[in-house]
Amino acid sequence: MMIFTKKMIEIRNILHDIQDDNSHITLPSIVVIGSQSSGKSSVLEAIVGHEFLPKGSNMVTRRPIELTLVHSKETTTPYCEFNGFQLGQITDFTKVQQVLTDMNMAIPPHRGVDDDPIRLTICASHIPNLSLIDLPGYIQIHSSDQPVDLDDKIANLCDKYIQEPNIILAVCAADVDLANSTALKASRRVDPLGLRTIGVITKMDLIPPEKAVSILRNEHYPLHYGYIGVISKVPQLSMWSRNQNLTDIVSSRERSYFSAHPEFRDLPVLPMLGIQNLRKNLIHVLEYTMSKNLQYTADSIRSELDDCSYQYKVQYNDRLLTAESYIAENLDVLKAAFKELSQKLDKNEVRALLKESLNEKTLDLLAERYWVDESILDWTKQSKTVDEHWQYKLDSCVSLLTRMGLGRVSTLQVTELLSRKVEEIAKQSPFGEHPGALQYILNATQDILRRRYHNTSEQVENCVKPYKFEVEIDDEEWKISRSEAQALIQKELSMCQNAEEKIRKVLGSKRLSQVLDFLDSQAKSSEPLPVAHSAILLDQGRLMQYLQMREDILKLRLSTLKSKTCKLKESKYLCPEVFLNAVSNKLINTAVLFINIELLSEFYYQFPRELDQRLIHSLTSDQLASFVDENPRLKSQIQLQHKKQALELALLKINSLAMLERQTDSD
Ligand code: GDP
Repeated sequence: MMIFTKKMIEIRNILHDIQDDNSHITLPSIVVIGSQSSGKSSVLEAIVGHEFLPKGSNMVTRRPIELTLVHSKETTTPYCEFNGFQLGQITDFTKVQQVLTDMNMAIPPHRGVDDDPIRLTICASHIPNLSLIDLPGYIQIHSSDQPVDLDDKIANLCDKYIQEPNIILAVCAADVDLANSTALKASRRVDPLGLRTIGVITKMDLIPPEKAVSILRNEHYPLHYGYIGVISKVPQLSMWSRNQNLTDIVSSRERSYFSAHPEFRDLPVLPMLGIQNLRKNLIHVLEYTMSKNLQYTADSIRSELDDCSYQYKVQYNDRLLTAESYIAENLDVLKAAFKELSQKLDKNEVRALLKESLNEKTLDLLAERYWVDESILDWTKQSKTVDEHWQYKLDSCVSLLTRMGLGRVSTLQVTELLSRKVEEIAKQSPFGEHPGALQYILNATQDILRRRYHNTSEQVENCVKPYKFEVEIDDEEWKISRSEAQALIQKELSMCQNAEEKIRKVLGSKRLSQVLDFLDSQAKSSEPLPVAHSAILLDQGRLMQYLQMREDILKLRLSTLKSKTCKLKESKYLCPEVFLNAVSNKLINTAVLFINIELLSEFYYQFPRELDQRLIHSLTSDQLASFVDENPRLKSQIQLQHKKQALELALLKINSLAMLERQTDSD
């Protein structure tokens, strides 16, 4: 028969996590109620055989403690587990006591009590299968930091637990008048016929034996299961060792007390005395109540399962989902998007990116070194030969270009582009709803790119090294570069003209020419002229002057580039735009080659594998749970599915238990 309660406790544990306020399934437990200091803890500890409950006068039980005792023949060292906490199996009962104290004391005195139960399982070979709930004691003496409504709070909490089908263990101290027992009053409210209440009279040693006997015969409030008298006081630790079984110690002390007083022999049945008998009674009553409720419990599980299955079908079309399968599916979506990205972001794309940045660099060099040189207009118009000044200019520009740290610059640009693109596709994928997973993906990206960065930038830098000393351009390269250089200068020219047009539009042609005339006259005059325009207008005028000068230079340079002069590569000093562009093409080609091999291909190979590793193979159950929590839709689907599976399992177990019961009855 021990098996029956054990199986029911198993079912209760299966159902525990999925129960919410709407759930109607309740499996019977024994609920311990009593006034403060009535001896509740002592009784519970004597039943369990260990001292483990919080002690002290400062209202140490502030939360319900749902205690599951599991009888396990094979367990040589008893252990405890706090359900829902990762504390593992605790074999030291002092530690259990400490954890329970901490958990209770975490409720501040001004809150009084909290409904959230602590769930503790104790597994040992010497304990029965029992499910007990310890509740805060009814208050006897108030302290100033407690809430004024503490009595009500405790009464409400106890009332919540003493409902059907639970069994009420009403603990009353023998030295307090039973008529005043708050526990008995509470039980009478919910169980007026006393059908599911067991009375426990503690401290039998504190009153004269005749009085003790008359209490046990209580005729004012008779209980179906009667009253049991105990002497549950846990002896001083100096009188026993924590390795000893407390139940045996308490029982032997009770035996000597009861046998020393012949009055107790007058009791109608001796099972009315002692912790051992109380324990036997509890086992029997719990088992009986569970068995009596079996059909009702099975029916409520079935009805809740029907409801849950219907919801699951309607909402999710019965599609099975786990956090793992959800991640795997979404990972496929992400990988498909990544594949598309890898096809688009190829070496041509990298080339275009680097080209744009080196074009900028080339234009900056031309602007800094050539276009600000006042002799450039004359030089462009007249020169067919090259003097040292212009030779030096080009050589230094080439040197700046080839020594710009292309390895670092180009690799960084590509890694930044890749990071950006991966972030974009990850945010658009279903992982966009999972900040945690998104971070994993971004970290994976960064880690691979970081690993590849040095190798790539070094390779690029090493391979462009020869260009620092000499750059040779062939005819074909010159030809291509010439037309690119023309396009580049043309673009710059257009930008310059657009900027002029903008100023002209804002100021109007007439006002603009007045401002320009003023600036001209001012430049020519030796005396300062009276200011005829606002500072803003004058600034705009100066900008216009600058742009017009730049336009003149660019037009001239463009015509040179288009002229015969720039047709041949030998005229590189006369056509620095073509040569610099050709150098930048050489640098880009080398960079693209190595970036493609060392960075792009490696990244495209490693990234999907890294994702599998991080999101499929290495996530702990906690990480999976927090991943699920990030998506409310996923969370409710998994919860509903989990509930359905738990109900199915519970129903299967309760049905087979019912079948076993029927068989035993018919045997
Ligand atoms: P709780 O507040 O209801 O949990 O009560 P406790 O179990 O902490 O007991 C309150 C006090 O009564 C403690 O000092 C116990 O040692 C003492 N006590 C408990 N049971 C007995 C008993 O059967 N006989 C005697 N003499 N003292 C007891």
